[in-house]
Amino acid sequence: MKSYIPRIEISLAQIQQNAHFLSELYGQKGISLMGVSKSTLGDPAIAQAMMRGGVKYIADSRLENIQRMQQAGVNTQFVLLRTALSQAEWVAGNVDISLNTEFATVQALSQAAAMWGKVHHIILMVELGDLREGILPSDLGQFVQATLRLSHIKIVGIGCNLACFGGVKPDNQKMQILSELVAAIEESCQIDLPIVSGGNSANHEWYAAARQVGRINNLRLGEAILLGCETVNRQPIDGLHTSAFQLIAEVIESKDKPSMPTGEICQDAFGHVPQFVDRGIRRRVIIGIGRQDMLISGLKPDSDVEILGASSDHVVLDSQNQALMVGSEVNFNLDYGGLLAAMTSPFIKKKFIDCPVF
Ligand SMILES: *Cc1c(COP(=O)(O)O)cnc(C)c1O
Repeated sequence: MKSYIPRIEISLAQIQQNAHFLSELYGQKGISLMGVSKSTLGDPAIAQAMMRGGVKYIADSRLENIQRMQQAGVNTQFVLLRTALSQAEWVAGNVDISLNTEFATVQALSQAAAMWGKVHHIILMVELGDLREGILPSDLGQFVQATLRLSHIKIVGIGCNLACFGGVKPDNQKMQILSELVAAIEESCQIDLPIVSGGNSANHEWYAAARQVGRINNLRLGEAILLGCETVNRQPIDGLHTSAFQLIAEVIESKDKPSMPTGEICQDAFGHVPQFVDRGIRRRVIIGIGRQDMLISGLKPDSDVEILGASSDHVVLDSQNQALMVGSEVNFNLDYGGLLAAMTSPFIKKKFIDCPVF
């Protein structure tokens, strides 16, 4: 029987090797890794590949994903990246560490942890300019003092997140501010902060150039492990695999056709008025995947194919490659948005193409 199409082919060996390479590299300066699983919908096999590669924790933003991994028997320390007040009870009962920025939520976590008979561990996120989540540095001391009065919460670290919302680059200056904040809080509040989580896949350039990393001893990496690139300039990281995920779609039509539509041009299926360049007669290939399946802009075709456009169920390619006959397959690399959409899509089958290496 032919393989199911469309599908995403996943190399667990390459993911493991990427995790191993990065664990070794960052380990040289005492930085441990959280492998971030959210873009894979918490796929248990992928989490395990990251763990075999040496990541110390698995971090995810969604409790459904963490539940999925736990039910599959993934045995590690789980970190929740995004904590909601309404989920406090579940979080305190099922997650080892959660990232937090709101005192009301931390209070609810303490109450819930008391109910479970546990002490819940938290990392406080500070705002360093990217303007997504974070406690303002000027409020941090007070936040910590108030948290220390809660009976079932332990602050195990401080973290920050950059390059996500505001696109602010994690550089030496930002990391130094974080290190100094950690030292100041330890001093003024008389506590130890064992985990200092400096950021995500965008921190690679900082690390590569940094002579010293200060107090930073942890990073939370998703894209770097999975797609092999850093995220400030989306450059591949030397030594990493960049095609551990491949999307494969089937050619459902392949014909020579004009490149200009004929007739009066009005709105397309998504409300845009399309524009065309006349390139004469071209080989046009349609693949059996569309906007209901996938984020089409997340597909990265190789050089002999160009994506002309997409509707709900069809992607039209310009291809002079005559080998793309009906029934043949087309491979695409994926960017982060493409990975996220493919792993989340109910229409795209997930297929592991190699055995994990032990
Ligand atoms: C998603 C996320 C990460 C991982 O980001 P990558 O760019 O995939 O490395 C790290 N930290 C937080 C808080 C996140 O939400």
